[in-house]
Amino acid sequence: MRLLLATRNEHKRREFARLLARADASERCELDLLPAAVALPPEGGETFAENALLKARAAASATGRATIADDSGIEAAALGGRPGVRSARYAGEHASDDENLRKLVREAPAGSRLHYRCALAYVDPARGVQRLFEGSCAGRMASAPQGTRGFGYDPIFLPDDGPGELTMAELTEAQKDAISHRGRAARALAAWLLGEDS
Ligand code: IMP
Repeated sequence: MRLLLATRNEHKRREFARLLARADASERCELDLLPAAVALPPEGGETFAENALLKARAAASATGRATIADDSGIEAAALGGRPGVRSARYAGEHASDDENLRKLVREAPAGSRLHYRCALAYVDPARGVQRLFEGSCAGRMASAPQGTRGFGYDPIFLPDDGPGELTMAELTEAQKDAISHRGRAARALAAWLLGEDS
């Protein structure tokens, strides 16, 4: 099975290929990046699910191919769920990961609750199939950023399911994949794809 991944981000393609491989679905599932000619709609939805579906539907209808698309971000309980779907542009439209992280550190107190969320949409226009898979990862604000792995808000995120008092940015890729929002959503997709394929 070949699926289109509605992104031009090679890092994201490798990450999903790795997650699907760990979920035992990689042999049946190859991922192609979105062709340059296909434009994606802006992430204008109010939920991760809406944004993932918007992207998957747009790429699927432009190419006619079975497509997956994701949207993800972080919700801080102390901020009423912000930054949420605006996680990538929290400190401004073209803010860097570091600027977004520093804004969250200024606003959310150490120890306050956090959730990473990921929505993963699957759209197959030929069969008229549309499915949504979601994953989340609960944690809390560390007292200061720590660790150099991962990306985005990982240095401040202490996962509840992690091995001790380590931030996401201190975990190995395999440790993060096992508990992350994207890992959980990808495994739910993989389980469904494997069931569909059998
Ligand atoms: P998108 O899913 O590519 O739209 O990215 C959403 C944004 O959410 C990223 O730019 C990060 O700021 C944040 N984010 C999503 N997943 C993670 C993660 O696993 N670690 C750290 N930050 C994340």
